[in-house]
Amino acid sequence: MVEVEVAQRRARIGVMGGTFDPIHNGHLVAASEVQQKFDLDEVIFVPTGEPWMKQDVTEGEHRYLMTVIATAANPRFTVSRVDIDRGGPTYTVDTLRDIRASRPEADLFFISGADAVAQILDWKDVGDVWSLAHFIAVSRPGHTLAISGLPEQGVSSLEVPALAISSTDCRNRVSRGFPVWYLVPDGVVQYISKHHLYRSNS
Ligand code: ATP
Repeated sequence: MVEVEVAQRRARIGVMGGTFDPIHNGHLVAASEVQQKFDLDEVIFVPTGEPWMKQDVTEGEHRYLMTVIATAANPRFTVSRVDIDRGGPTYTVDTLRDIRASRPEADLFFISGADAVAQILDWKDVGDVWSLAHFIAVSRPGHTLAISGLPEQGVSSLEVPALAISSTDCRNRVSRGFPVWYLVPDGVVQYISKHHLYRSNS
């Protein structure tokens, strides 16, 4: 009998870090597009910890739950608590070290918007960051998608459908009494309303 060795394909996992205050459809469309174009098995959303020097970031538990609600319907989307449970300010290198430790068998792809990518070289332990994950820089309205100066092997770029949405704009809209329907998933609109988030007097 001839034995056929089937090469095992390594798992391909996307990691999407963000404050997600709140998560919005720009995040979800970008993650979904990368998942499909890069044939990722899973995209892990990782809400950041609570920066103690920043007063105005919503409690991690709320941001985590909104992220869970927003991603629940997509079987390829999951949410990790690593940054929230570690506490303090989040550095991408720590996020990637923790995800790498829990998923040693996988290739990691860190998804980052054009605005965040522009600051990568200032990140903590940026040299280690490249060895932990391949970077995928996605387009974002109002920001130039530039990856020159970054290691060629370490970064890819991808044009994603342009949604000019930011969490800052969503928070401002809620605080001024404007709707955020269709900018964030319906369940997130309901969560924001139920917990009185982003009201100027909350
Ligand atoms: P804020 O307005 O509070 O700064 P944000 O909208 O930029 O928030 P973050 O949670 O900081 O959202 O973003 C997480 C990641 O998602 C970042 O890499 C960011 O560049 C990317 N991103 C955010 N919004 C978009 C968008 N509309 N299109 C593409 N990428 C986005």
